[in-house]
Amino acid sequence: MPTIGRFAPSPTGPLHFGSLVAATASYLAARRAGGEWLLRIEDLDKPREQTGAADTIIQTLADFGFVWDGDILYQSQRLPAYQEALANLKPNTYPCTCSRKRFGACYPGTCRDKPLSNPAQQHSIRLRTHDQPICFTDQIYGKYCQRLESVLGDFVILRADGIFAYQLAVVVDDAFQGVNQIVRGADLLDNTPRHLYLQQLLGFPQPSYAHVPLVIDQQGQKLSKQNLAPAVSTEKRLDTLVAALRFLGQTCPDASDLDTLNAFWDWAIAHWNMASVTPQIPPAG
Ligand SMILES: [Zn+2]
Repeated sequence: MPTIGRFAPSPTGPLHFGSLVAATASYLAARRAGGEWLLRIEDLDKPREQTGAADTIIQTLADFGFVWDGDILYQSQRLPAYQEALANLKPNTYPCTCSRKRFGACYPGTCRDKPLSNPAQQHSIRLRTHDQPICFTDQIYGKYCQRLESVLGDFVILRADGIFAYQLAVVVDDAFQGVNQIVRGADLLDNTPRHLYLQQLLGFPQPSYAHVPLVIDQQGQKLSKQNLAPAVSTEKRLDTLVAALRFLGQTCPDASDLDTLNAFWDWAIAHWNMASVTPQIPPAG
């Protein structure tokens, strides 16, 4: 079966160095395996979207020499597929009217087996969990297990504002696109058991996973659009790509020894080694 990898940014801001690192790792892993690399824009959360950010991200990736296969998939075009998945999950879901602020990290199942008193009341849809450990072997972290019920509780798959949760959409789209190799930031390591659980319930195959370390700023925070990480500059692209490769633990020639982006990518694909990426303990929360 051919390898299919992907990069799936949210258009909540421009591409920053941390997302360039994740894009680079997923690209090299897919291309090293002779596989395809897909691009998906995760634009479900319209209130958080920044106008023009999707196009800016796509242009920046092209400027850095990334070449994706096929058409770009936009999650905002995929609502019927999420609706269908929600219907298939129905035996394991229930409406919840609790405000998120009432609970800490773990939802105690307050609304399980409690029908809505007023169907018109605004509610989220939660997925019933169990407490058997759900485990997988990450290609960078090794074995990782989580008990969903005691760590998170039943989690939201359709938000009270009517937006499908990231957890559901990402699983449906990876299966739809045939993605079998997921390489992404370590902040999603602890989301993965939820994805495995959804894959099991929906009858989807389980991809391989590798969670690459996050780029941390001087304040010790993950570079993210939320804390306004600066857009990655397209001025010195080769230097920036070499820096991304070094961050991923790869040996690399000096940027001055590579005269074109094509030469960089040819070299980087031929030398990519996932075993050289050092795991990083994900930040709490
Ligand atoms: Zn509830």
